[in-house]
Amino acid sequence: MNQFRFSRRPDIGDKIRVSFEFFPPKTDEMEARLWDTVTRLEPLKPNFVSVTYGAGGSTRERTARTVKRILTETSLTPAAHMTCVDAARHEVDEVIQEFADMGVTRFVALRGDPAEGVGAAYRPHPGGYANGAELVGALKGVGDFDISVSAYPEKHPESPDFATDIDMLKRKVDNGATRAITQFFFDNDLYERYVERARRAGIYIPIVPGILPVHNFTQVANFSARCGALVPAWLAERFDGLQKDPQTHALVAAAVAAEQVLDLVERGVGDFHFYTMNRADLAFAICHMIGIRSHEAEAAGSAAA
Ligand code: FAD
Repeated sequence: MNQFRFSRRPDIGDKIRVSFEFFPPKTDEMEARLWDTVTRLEPLKPNFVSVTYGAGGSTRERTARTVKRILTETSLTPAAHMTCVDAARHEVDEVIQEFADMGVTRFVALRGDPAEGVGAAYRPHPGGYANGAELVGALKGVGDFDISVSAYPEKHPESPDFATDIDMLKRKVDNGATRAITQFFFDNDLYERYVERARRAGIYIPIVPGILPVHNFTQVANFSARCGALVPAWLAERFDGLQKDPQTHALVAAAVAAEQVLDLVERGVGDFHFYTMNRADLAFAICHMIGIRSHEAEAAGSAAA
């Protein structure tokens, strides 16, 4: 192992930008955990933080409430996720307007999955937007928003081939998408190949890797199987036997994610989106390793020295 790859390079942090993804909490306890997480990550000055939208629009109010609280109580810039599942165009347009009136300027535009869950057959609402690309068009019709869309380094499970998948990404870009955020992946070569494919197709927006710190390997493996993301054998091997040992699991998860992010930095990637699962520790530790630090923590460190 090259120890220098894992040492702090002061020049790196200045060039790297991160964003954090949260989901809207369901209970008071989850709400408290989310706000602890937001408070801990806020000093890292992320480019933006995003708040997901539940399957079938099921979290509309909770997403709006969370986004509003971020806008009014923090210095962070929120991006509201939106989907077009089970909704007529006028209903989606109302949600866009509601967010715009609140002062939201960033969106993550998605088709979404059916309410029955990932893997169930998707049927567009007869009077609705059919996919992510049409939703991007609807957003652009309301305002000059910063719009992120999804991208799938291993292709979306419903795409018959990479050409179809990349074609959908191209349609989103043509309609005004500003950046793509990828589905999580564990093999950086797959990401690099996907970016090359996109560039060859004339797609030049940033394709930001979505990094999933593995808080619970069993859950991640189950979810990966449903959304078509490969779990390499070496990854399963690293977490083997750690289900009842949360402390070692967390240490291994930090090491795995840091290794992945540092390798992407070596490959020239400068933007990262973290799927935080509303937990701060792993994202915070990885940011620390790539030189993204809170100025308060740095000041406290030098005062103590
Ligand atoms: P699209 O980009 O519109 O389509 C995905 C693929 O499906 C396309 O490549 C295309 O080939 C194929 N396809 C699309 N429409 C059709 C059609 N009519 N017929 C045939 N093939 C078609 N889900 C949520 O519910 N809430 C969220 O907040 C959320 N956030 C996400 C954030 C990120 C960064 C990512 C990567 C995913 C997120 N998802 C979320 C999951 C996402 O909704 C699912 O992956 C969904 O299955 C596809 O949505 P999309 O916008 O990627 O779809």
